[in-house]
Amino acid sequence: MFPMFGQLIKQLFRKPFTNKFPVKYAPNNVTELLKKVESGEVKINPPVEMPEWFRGKIIYEKEKCIGCKMCITVCPAKAIDFKEEEKKIKIYVSRCIFCSQCNDVCPVNCLHMSNEFLLADTDRLSDNLIVE
Ligand code: SF4
Ligand code: SF4
Repeated sequence: MFPMFGQLIKQLFRKPFTNKFPVKYAPNNVTELLKKVESGEVKINPPVEMPEWFRGKIIYEKEKCIGCKMCITVCPAKAIDFKEEEKKIKIYVSRCIFCSQCNDVCPVNCLHMSNEFLLADTDRLSDNLIVE
């Protein structure tokens, strides 16, 4: 009970880990807000810094891939297909849960997690959401 109370007191004096984005207070009208930003009346908060270990969209170094299929075996989301004709892989980012297990298992280190997180799209098969 006591450690929890201590933690609660500490939290009271800590700064928040997130910031209000894009501005300090939620705007009632986005068009008005944009006008104010343009005129310099309001400043946009910069987004928080990306942590070193952030797991965003996968980067695939295709030329290094040896086609061992280890990444396919470990992927819990079944987000990776094997292209038999090329002996290379295809990753469906819309299925990926960003667990990084494929990165960890790849014997030639050709998969990496990037800082890219703006991945919203109306088409789950759009070029932006396919890595090959
Ligand atoms: S990060 Fe995880 S879910 Fe995404 S492709 Fe790799 S193993 Fe699959
Ligand atoms: S684990 Fe690495 S080398 Fe093996 S198929 Fe996947 S990406 Fe290619």
